[in-house]
Formats: sequence, C-alpha cells, structure tokens
Amino acid sequence: MGDDERTPRRDATDRPTRSRDTRDTGRTRRRFIWLTGTAAMAGLAGCSGGGGGATETTTATATTTQSSGSTGGVPEAYATATSLDGTQRNPDSLSSQEAVSYQDEPKDGKQCSTCRYYIEDKNGDGVGACAIVAGEVAPEGYCVSYVEYEG
Ligand code: SF4
Repeated sequence: MGDDERTPRRDATDRPTRSRDTRDTGRTRRRFIWLTGTAAMAGLAGCSGGGGGATETTTATATTTQSSGSTGGVPEAYATATSLDGTQRNPDSLSSQEAVSYQDEPKDGKQCSTCRYYIEDKNGDGVGACAIVAGEVAPEGYCVSYVEYEG
C-alpha cells in the first residue's frame, strides 16, 4: 500500500551536459602552441645543439624554434629589430606574454599593428614581434602595454 507514492526517479536522464567544450578551442590551441614553443625553446637551450632533439614540437612552432632561446622566442631576424617607433628589441629584457595579458585579438579597437612597440612581419608568415614582449606577436593581438603609434 502506498508504495507508488513519491518514488524517486533516478533512472532516466541524469546525464551531465557538455556543450561548451568546443567554444574556446581555437584560442586555447593557439595559446598551447605558444606555450609549447616556449617549452621547446627552454629544452633546446639546455640541449646545447646536440642535433636531432627537437622533433614533434618543432612542427607547430617552426618559426619560434629556429634559433636558440637567446632571441626571446622569435626568429633571429626579430631578435634585435626595431619597432614602429624605433625602439630596439632587447631579447634579455622582455616581458612574458602572460605578464602583459597578451591576447590574439584586438581590444576596443587597439591592436599590435598600431602599437608603437610592434615589429612588423619580416618573413611573410603573418606575425611579427614586439620590442618589449617575448614571443611572436600577431598584428591583431593586444596587450596591456599597448601604446598607440602616432608616427
Ligand atoms: S600591444 Fe603589447 S604585444 Fe602588441 S606590440 Fe604593443 S606592447 Fe607589444
């Protein structure tokens, strides 16, 4: 008697929903690639050019691992290049991209290509560098150190 009253239902649709997984994949992936490049460079720096060490990671980061870690995460051509306003890049004195909250997209109409510290693409791969921030920098990127170039 009364055994069908308030019977708990725990059989049917208790599945957790996962619908947001794919939304940030692109940005996460780019960030992963950058971080992988940084890690690969650290590994190469400690490897002292034994040859044949870098294999899988260099596929994704070919442009950032062509030289040793002394370039600050960019190909040699950018290591000591000058930015739009003539600031010379010093590979030994750069902020990390994390420290300046670098992102791959503009913010409020501000982006690297209009920043005084931007170093334009030199090898045709579509990305440049920055006189004060380590690693490759996209022309449409942005960070908190942005200063509009008024040249
Ligand atoms: S916005 Fe930041 S990362 Fe981009 S060029 Fe300017 S200082 Fe460098």
